[in-house]
Amino acid sequence: MEVRENFNLKAFNTFGIDCYSKYFSTFESVDELKSLLEKFPNEKLLILGGGSNILFTERNFDGLVLYNQIKGFDIIDESDGFVSVKSGGGESWHQFVMKCLEQNYGGVENLSFIPGSVGASPMQNIGAYGVEIKDIFEKLEAFHIKTKEIHTFNKDKCEFAYRESVFKRKLKGQYIILNVTYRLTKKHHSLKTDYGAIKDELKKQNINSPTIQDISRVVISIRESKLPNPKEIGNAGSFFKNPIVSTDILVELQKHYAHVPNYPVSNDKVKLAAGWLIEKAGWKGKVFGNYGVHKKQALVLVNYGGAKGNDIYSLSEQIIQDIQEKFGVTLEREVNIL
Ligand SMILES: Cc1cc2nc3c(=O)[nH]c(=O)nc-3n(C[C@H](O)[C@H](O)[C@H](O)COP(=O)(O)OP(=O)(O)OC[C@H]3O[C@@H](n4cnc5c(N)ncnc54)[C@H](O)[C@@H]3O)c2cc1C
Repeated sequence: MEVRENFNLKAFNTFGIDCYSKYFSTFESVDELKSLLEKFPNEKLLILGGGSNILFTERNFDGLVLYNQIKGFDIIDESDGFVSVKSGGGESWHQFVMKCLEQNYGGVENLSFIPGSVGASPMQNIGAYGVEIKDIFEKLEAFHIKTKEIHTFNKDKCEFAYRESVFKRKLKGQYIILNVTYRLTKKHHSLKTDYGAIKDELKKQNINSPTIQDISRVVISIRESKLPNPKEIGNAGSFFKNPIVSTDILVELQKHYAHVPNYPVSNDKVKLAAGWLIEKAGWKGKVFGNYGVHKKQALVLVNYGGAKGNDIYSLSEQIIQDIQEKFGVTLEREVNIL
């Protein structure tokens, strides 16, 4: 549990931004976490998982970065059809998914290949290809920074919504997620193959009765073909959320763009595709020196190497303003800005 000083976080954020933290330490247990917090009672904190959903906009982080390395993959309950798996928050999300699939535990397959840690997975209720973690979530244990108590959160207490949870809103900065328990199927898996790209890829590969492992493989190949690999081009996946707007806004948009993609959310609300709006506004593939908007996916802002976080943030500001002016739609960032 070595505490490093003036530590470069470049390798610890998928945008690959240079940012120096005053202090940096890993923790592998609650005891280690407690002793670090005792040693640095007044420092500003940043809990870091895989750094795949953050953008550093300052040259320095003036505080203590706590890198979560709590491990574990334990079956805590099991019946004929279901299994409850408790994973340490410091496990890699994708490795967790792979371990579940090796055991033929279903429910996580559509969420294959999402970067980051298990501990961060509830933060924004990660989701992909028609599945969100709230669909399989059972409970989590989190460390309350102020009282040093460990609290258990069930699904209701997490207040999950689209890319949201109570930990991003009301309880922001108050808890460190130690472990998460997911309830998965052992048989009669409920496959989610409706998503267009999955359906097309299964068809292309002549798979008529897919297994959960097939779905995972297909999801991985779709993701590899569509999204830039952060090891090659710095990015944090979708920079913006898909906006949820009133049907009145949709009707107005349809006057100018008859085929605007939209997905019903409720009687009077629809979800629009932020990537479509950004592409229509002409931003897709735009390069500004060493940063820009990805050429294949307009939702993804990229660092081609050496960009400053602040430049990427300013680009996101310009995009938000432009989308507001052109379409009357307010985009919200998905990425956590620091
Ligand atoms: C190429 C790419 C593709 C992506 N695709 C998707 C996708 O399909 N769907 C999706 O939902 N997301 C996606 N993301 C975003 C990202 O992978 C997820 O949000 C992921 O859950 C972030 O995990 P992390 O460990 O990297 O979190 P970090 O970036 O380290 O942290 C994110 C936030 O959570 C906080 N945090 C992290 N761990 C803890 C903890 N244990 N306790 C309390 N707070 C904590 C941090 O302080 C920070 O505020 C993608 C990112 C990339 C780079």
